[in-house]
Amino acid sequence: MRKEYLPTIGLEIHIELKTRSKMFCSCKNDSQEKEPNVNICPVCLGHPGTLPVVNKEAVRKVIKTGIALNCKIAPWSFFERKNYFYPDLPKGYQISQYQKPLCENGFLIIFGKKIRIRRIHLEEDTARLVHPQGADYSLLDFNRAGIPLMELVTEPDMVSAQEAKKFAQELQLILRYLDVSNADMEKGQMRVEANISLSQKLKVKSKEWGTKVEIKNLNSFRAVERAIEYEIERQKEILDSGGEVIQETKGWDDKRAKTITQRIKEEAHDYRYFPEPDLPPLEIDTYYLEEIKQEVPELPQEKRIRFLQEYGIAETKIETLISNKELTEYFEKSSSELIRWVQDKNLKDKKGKLLEMLANYLIGDGIGLLKGKPLKEKLYPITPENFAEFITIIEEKNLTSRMAKILLEQMFKTSKDPSDILKEKELVQVSDETEIQKLAERIIQDNPKPVKDFQSGKENAIQFLVGQMMKITKGKVNPDKAREILIKLLKGSK
Ligand code: ADP
Ligand code: MG
Ligand code: ZN
Repeated sequence: MRKEYLPTIGLEIHIELKTRSKMFCSCKNDSQEKEPNVNICPVCLGHPGTLPVVNKEAVRKVIKTGIALNCKIAPWSFFERKNYFYPDLPKGYQISQYQKPLCENGFLIIFGKKIRIRRIHLEEDTARLVHPQGADYSLLDFNRAGIPLMELVTEPDMVSAQEAKKFAQELQLILRYLDVSNADMEKGQMRVEANISLSQKLKVKSKEWGTKVEIKNLNSFRAVERAIEYEIERQKEILDSGGEVIQETKGWDDKRAKTITQRIKEEAHDYRYFPEPDLPPLEIDTYYLEEIKQEVPELPQEKRIRFLQEYGIAETKIETLISNKELTEYFEKSSSELIRWVQDKNLKDKKGKLLEMLANYLIGDGIGLLKGKPLKEKLYPITPENFAEFITIIEEKNLTSRMAKILLEQMFKTSKDPSDILKEKELVQVSDETEIQKLAERIIQDNPKPVKDFQSGKENAIQFLVGQMMKITKGKVNPDKAREILIKLLKGSK
């Protein structure tokens, strides 16, 4: 009989902080620098006799993150040496925090569930090892050594791969809102390690957890999800066949879609932590804390709730809008302009509909125009005010979607007001019935084949005829009216 298991998952996440200089020296903080060993100095190379100096901005950013994630912020804290040797850490220790992390006991809510955050601390990144293909040596690049790194550890509160992925995604969004990191997983700016164990459902109450396995090398959200799913299955099979899961660290091989043993933990590491003698303790007074609190912007979850109340647009659209800081800002600016236009133009009862249209156009055509460039630059030629006016014009002038598209493209190209373009381009919808009827008669005469098709039951042929109407009017005819009149004429002349 297959037993039932409950997965237990905890995450350890490293985040490269966005600061100008490194953690303990004035070298440039740029982990994406291609030229090796250019942003280096005796401090970040770990030469003996050098003295580290704390990067204030990095401390600030960790505290800001801690506040946003509901943590207790330590009133004082200090750095410690974590002693180990590895080729990417030739000085023999990493400056980190152990006993007194800057932030503790926070939480983040995902899918309505509270995931507790055990701690967030500050440390320095290591150098990067490069293994040239086919070579019997490795190279070291110290550009990354000493970059401020924030480590966040959750409690084992997640129970599925989906929860873990969602946690990582929501965290990334928050980090970007806070502007503490770009948190791009593919670029190694956010690195997730997942701890996974299975326990038998019966034993969950007594908190008898299974042996955990740690998975490293998760370079995308998809990898987080797939690796955890894979590992849950792997452990299930072991347990089902009467085996025992061994505690180990594994790496995720994305191409082969499996986890691979890296090292088996025989005993706990002993890093011989001790206070870093070259750095003073940090004191975090309430004034300083208040100041940082003021810098925390409205967070994604608050935005979701407010957008729903204020704009009443569909939740999936809200999600798209808030997923991008610039898009959100643009939407907010143009929606407040729109609300003003709505009052000016006496369209109050259409407010809801127009807001929805604004969201649609921004998500759809708006982004469509943007091709490739970052959003800020992309939408730049159109002011939020003009975008809002554009939406009201669609409504007032009853523009077809084709005309709206032309108008938007012109706005994008020329940065002119939509009302001016409208006049210049004579973008006026043809909706006068007699005029449409005249056009329809002409189309019927010119297209005997589709007309015959339609009359012999091929209803689809009407599409072609409506298309022809659109073509000769350059998209200015109201398509619904065109269709209606065409059908009337065709049925009548049968
Ligand atoms: P270690 O001392 O082995 O590093 P920690 O207690 O520090 O273990 O926890 C490290 C991470 O592993 C945390 O994210 C924690 O939530 C998670 N974790 C702890 N116990 C388990 C477990 N039984 N199953 C899954 N994850 C766990
Ligand atoms: Mg650990
Ligand atoms: Zn340096």
